[in-house]
Amino acid sequence: MDIPKLDYRKIGLKVGLELHQQLNTKYKLFCKCPTILHEKPSPTTFKRYLRPTMSELGEVDVAALFEWKKGRYYIYEVHEDNVCLVESDEEPPHPLNMEAVEIALTVALMLHSRPVDEIHVMRKVVIDGSNTTGFQRTAIIALGGYIEDEDGIVRIQTICIEEDAARKVGEKGKGIQYRLDRLGIPLIEISTAPDIHTPEQAERVAFKIGQLLRMTGKVKRGLGTIRQDLNVSIEGGEKIEIKGVQRLDLIAKVVAYEALRQLRLLQLKNEILKRGIREEDIKSEFIDVSNVFKNTKSKIISRVLKSGGVVLALKLPKFKGLIGFELQPNRRFGTELADYARFWADVGGLFHTDELPAYGISREEVDKLYEVTGASKEDAIIIIADTPERARRGLEAVVERVKMAFKGVPKETRAANPDGTTRYMRPQPGAARMYPETDIPPVVIPRELIEKLKKNLPEPPNVKYEKYVKLYGLSSELAKEILKSYWLDLFEKLVEKFRNKVPATLIASTLVNTLKYLKSEGVPVENITDEVFEEVFKAYAEKTIAKEAIPEILTWIAKNPDKTVREAIKALGIVRISVADVEKIVENIMKSNIENIKSRGKKAFKYVMGLVMRELRGKVEGRIVAEIVERKLRELL
Ligand SMILES: [Zn+2]
Repeated sequence: MDIPKLDYRKIGLKVGLELHQQLNTKYKLFCKCPTILHEKPSPTTFKRYLRPTMSELGEVDVAALFEWKKGRYYIYEVHEDNVCLVESDEEPPHPLNMEAVEIALTVALMLHSRPVDEIHVMRKVVIDGSNTTGFQRTAIIALGGYIEDEDGIVRIQTICIEEDAARKVGEKGKGIQYRLDRLGIPLIEISTAPDIHTPEQAERVAFKIGQLLRMTGKVKRGLGTIRQDLNVSIEGGEKIEIKGVQRLDLIAKVVAYEALRQLRLLQLKNEILKRGIREEDIKSEFIDVSNVFKNTKSKIISRVLKSGGVVLALKLPKFKGLIGFELQPNRRFGTELADYARFWADVGGLFHTDELPAYGISREEVDKLYEVTGASKEDAIIIIADTPERARRGLEAVVERVKMAFKGVPKETRAANPDGTTRYMRPQPGAARMYPETDIPPVVIPRELIEKLKKNLPEPPNVKYEKYVKLYGLSSELAKEILKSYWLDLFEKLVEKFRNKVPATLIASTLVNTLKYLKSEGVPVENITDEVFEEVFKAYAEKTIAKEAIPEILTWIAKNPDKTVREAIKALGIVRISVADVEKIVENIMKSNIENIKSRGKKAFKYVMGLVMRELRGKVEGRIVAEIVERKLRELL
């Protein structure tokens, strides 16, 4: 499917962003555990069944109840150095981490938001087991504000701090395994008004807010530390929540695809009405068609039948062609139906006649399917093969979803796929999901704190840019790159630390260009810690290594993350050597190749350089070698 170029203003596209960024605080939000993650699993675990919590109004979230009914249980992994009884919900939360509050207030002031007088922590129901309590704690820090953009001002609605959820690390049957290390790491959540009107603007504004956050120097970096949720709607559509877009460069695509999906769903509705189909024609009548598939070549179906399952069919009058109606690239109306069946009945999927014969189902079987169900050529048929109970529930979910198509776009929460398309995740929760956290008393924000933070706001990007170019001597391009970079805070820290010892240009180009290059070569650069960079530049400042050795050392450390820079230098044999030693090496090499050099005459420079650098790469700067070789050749010839 080609993506049509849409006139987004004309279709009334509206996008709101909800950014979540982990803060780089010393402690978690409600306990004194450090905010570090573990890559290796912990053998210490405990198991829980979570019940959906009821709000004070006595309402239970439908989807929460549903997840619970599925009989899900959760395994939580505990690392003792960053999980305590608070994360396990065996001890009440400690008072709010004021370091996190200060960072959030700083961001609020940068976004022209109005801090609240008193912080009230609330509980937000979560249904997926990602929090041991069954809710997430969240608190509004500031209201209102705006961020400037080329296409107009984008208003900020709220700025909150909240606790990050546990990380899902595995799934087996009804059990889901979470690692508790991430639970409780402070997050700042920034929600914009739906003032964004094109996919490109959505990506740009997300970038600008991310950059503003990095300006504080107090946020975590790397994939997974920043997550964007999007609200997307078009005229006549619905406000759809899309969860968990981790990559910034996917935002424009997700928005464009969602606008397209809503537009196509409206076209589908028109087509349904044009064909004169009525909602009451869609009936929950499911026909057992197992007999049709007695000798089927479809592996899925024959496996189900052998294990005592059934194939149930649903007839959709005059729907031929509409189930295969494409909504997003490679995602059809049938895909949406399958998502509903999967969520509400745990079935593996469904087949529909717009895609058959295929998947081992023959033309004869399709013909027989029409015959047995009494369907006409204009009808479509959907089949699900599973246990009788699941197949029936799956088709019921399909009936519900098909009925929604008569109205256009159903209100739902969706998840982003890696290719930018989205899938059904769950119905949108109601307002009943929030209620007060009674374990934590309200916190008054002192006026003096706001005044103090106002005086110490981070420099805006344009001021930093001027400083980098004029004071640090960065090229305009490199200054722009580092301003965009996740390493901005480390760059400033290192420049400050190694002033007059390491050129700022070398630090910037290492963090921007070298890392980009190493990453493209498949080096796991995410293993390189701030301390490693600091050690590397220290070694350079002390003239232990040449700048040519930096990429090699970083590569080695990335592959041996528990080793030190000193060990890297030793293992690679790249201790910088003195100029006197270089002269000796050059002399020796020239001596043993004297005939070759003489025969090359004036062209010998390149030849000698090649021989010398083979021995000295990474141990001395090429510039120094070139000077020596040039001088020695002049003397010789
Ligand atoms: Zn803790």
